[in-house]
Amino acid sequence: MSAHRQARIDWMKQEARKRLLLLDGSWGVMIQGYKLGEDDFRGARFGNHPSELKGNNDLLTLTKPEIIQNIGRMYLEAGVDFIETNTFNSNFTSQEDYGLGHLVGELNEAGARLARDLCDEYSTAERPRLVAGVLGPANRTATISPDVNDPAFRNITFDQLRETYRDGARGLIKGGSDVLMIETVFDTLNAKAAIYAIEEVYEELGVRLPVWISGTITDLSGRTLTGQTPTAFWHSVRHANPFAIGLNCALGAKELRPYIAELSGACETLVSAHPNAGLPNEFGGYDETPEQMAEMIREFATSGLVNIVGGCCGTKPEHIAAFGKAIKGVTPRAIPQKPKYMRLSGLEPFTLTPDLNFVNVGERTNITGTRAMSGSAAIRLRKVIMACFESSRPSSMLMSMTEAPASTC
Ligand SMILES: [Zn+2]
Repeated sequence: MSAHRQARIDWMKQEARKRLLLLDGSWGVMIQGYKLGEDDFRGARFGNHPSELKGNNDLLTLTKPEIIQNIGRMYLEAGVDFIETNTFNSNFTSQEDYGLGHLVGELNEAGARLARDLCDEYSTAERPRLVAGVLGPANRTATISPDVNDPAFRNITFDQLRETYRDGARGLIKGGSDVLMIETVFDTLNAKAAIYAIEEVYEELGVRLPVWISGTITDLSGRTLTGQTPTAFWHSVRHANPFAIGLNCALGAKELRPYIAELSGACETLVSAHPNAGLPNEFGGYDETPEQMAEMIREFATSGLVNIVGGCCGTKPEHIAAFGKAIKGVTPRAIPQKPKYMRLSGLEPFTLTPDLNFVNVGERTNITGTRAMSGSAAIRLRKVIMACFESSRPSSMLMSMTEAPASTC
């Protein structure tokens, strides 16, 4: 890793102890403001592309880089520490909808390079600016069937996701990202494929960047789309040892507050929040003003819930500048020390504390009944689970393999 990048990462970790850090806002709403047409998206390079390209915002990094630079510049002027790369949809399935699945590596690398150049322009010796290389959620879910008549059907596999996230992560690192952000996670299994891919790329390139994971609570039930509570989500991804975990998108700051508070109490790492500018109105727009949102962001900060704040859908540089003012001088959230317990999760979290002396673990895999899970695979899995439990809680548990539809996250 270049000395510069390591120095920036070290600075970031130190700085996060002293003050709250500021992330940028929405790129989508800013791109919309340019009212671009089909020809703008195509540029000269994709003039003859057989299908429509309008709406492929990530492609603008290649065909209208000056617009993406302008947006990044506005956020840097607003005082952010991090700008995100314009790569939210730079994964295979999202790009293949436009017939551009082959561009994943290039879009991620170019997106990171553009952000790197901008950050370098705005960095000073005292205050570097950081590139958050974005791996979006992808437009398919590995956990939920898109076919109501066939619950076992999936239109993407863990390995397909892992492969495209690997191409994405490689590009983001080569282009100069300082951290990798797996964001808007609605399906924890997709995020786990991203985590796995990132680890593979770290090994391949001999580079290790901090990982930032941000989930999304999709409605007022307070759960991710695949049904996890915030703490269960944390238990599912804490093995990635993220430098920050948070929530973004979908809900406004007010609606997001209880879930951020829950994460804040559960996580022994930095916590981030980048909410929408309120819930979308009947026209799909966002109504919360910079002043309204900044007031709530300040309350998050002064209540000690967060370490990093920014905005998601509908937030603009004006919002982010107001957040910057709102968090100025506020002591950042202290990271709680948690006792070392086995922490598991399904849809709900589970912590194996010493006061529990009998635990019945049901694994939601039909280990005895299906042909795919019979024989040596089943025996291996059973051994792994038994070994895991025996090492931590000898003779105090009963293993029970319940028969239920295969579904996991
Ligand atoms: Zn959003």
